[in-house]
Amino acid sequence: MSRRYRPLILAAVLLVGLCMALWVSSAPGNDGQAGLDRADDPRLHQGSAPTSTVIASPRPRQFTMVAVGDVMTDRNVGKAIRANGMRSILARVADLTSSADVSFANLECPLSTEGPHDPANCCFRARPETVQVLLHGGFDIVSLANNHSLNAGRAGVLQTLQTLDRNRIAYCGARYDRDKGGEPTFLTVGDPPVRLGFLAATDLSFEHGSYNKVAADRSNLVAQIRSTRPQCDLLFVSLHWGDEYQNMPNQRQRNTAHILVDAGADVILGHHPHTLQGAEVYRGKLILYSMGNFVFDQREGERMESAIFYLKWIEGWGWQVFAKPIWIPRSRMGPIYPSASRRDKILARLQRISEPLGTRWLIQGGKAWLEVPASAGAKTAHVPTAAAY
Ligand SMILES: [Zn+2]
Repeated sequence: MSRRYRPLILAAVLLVGLCMALWVSSAPGNDGQAGLDRADDPRLHQGSAPTSTVIASPRPRQFTMVAVGDVMTDRNVGKAIRANGMRSILARVADLTSSADVSFANLECPLSTEGPHDPANCCFRARPETVQVLLHGGFDIVSLANNHSLNAGRAGVLQTLQTLDRNRIAYCGARYDRDKGGEPTFLTVGDPPVRLGFLAATDLSFEHGSYNKVAADRSNLVAQIRSTRPQCDLLFVSLHWGDEYQNMPNQRQRNTAHILVDAGADVILGHHPHTLQGAEVYRGKLILYSMGNFVFDQREGERMESAIFYLKWIEGWGWQVFAKPIWIPRSRMGPIYPSASRRDKILARLQRISEPLGTRWLIQGGKAWLEVPASAGAKTAHVPTAAAY
């Protein structure tokens, strides 16, 4: 590095550090522990430091996003909805999940009145009206590439798509034409606008099949990524993969994630294990291997303890991410914010399972924080190993 540029680079590093500190103290869902209320925080709306000494520059493009894991509104969740109402499920967390520019979840059941239904044997089919749970949580897009979307057969998928369309919730991983499940979905958010692309696929063999299954050599999903990436500013790839109830991603998940990033994925949103798996930053891209359950009715313990992932992207700066712990008491079948001891246990687990993936979160204010600078992608040269392919 030339001496001439050292002061400039130092100033830039300090500025990014200062912004991270401001973000940590003032982000939404911070329980009023520090900083400004989100609605009053000009930085969250204007994207530049709130000081009159800063020379006016074009506002960088930016947006915020919420990402959560599995949502299933059948079985015991369906019973809780019948007993307590649609809004009982997300009553405690809807403020946060609906506060972002775009909110994503994995919808782990068809919304249909037709097709097989055997919830005791994990063949799910939830009432179409339960789409109200997603609407209450402010969800804009759901993944349908999972092992339950086809539980009620093709009729169930079609009614699910109609239900989501009627309620203006976008989806990825399934289409009315089953051969087009690998088509991307685009959403435009923010001002100036940012165009987001979404692809969703399953990477396991499931009894009921999938409209977009990853090939053994991943070539089909890689081709989808390559053709979609030039059509958007950022590309999210939702993956239903891995081993159930395992905290660590398996080697196939890790190799797949790296291959998909190399092909052009910007963020990988993983699910299926029903428990949290760690986060990895690979070539400057965020990989959330499994976001765990968000609305589900499994056994209490790690399966019912996960997090809401809140991401903020600023063009040229990269990502600021926090994970806010939640847990799902079976008494209500919807996520709530845990007491301090359970919250800290979840945060410690997230840290413990992310460290072997090279990720260290900053634990502060009841959340885990992670910064992924835009420049990070340039730092790591990827040398693919034979095993990766
Ligand atoms: Zn699954």
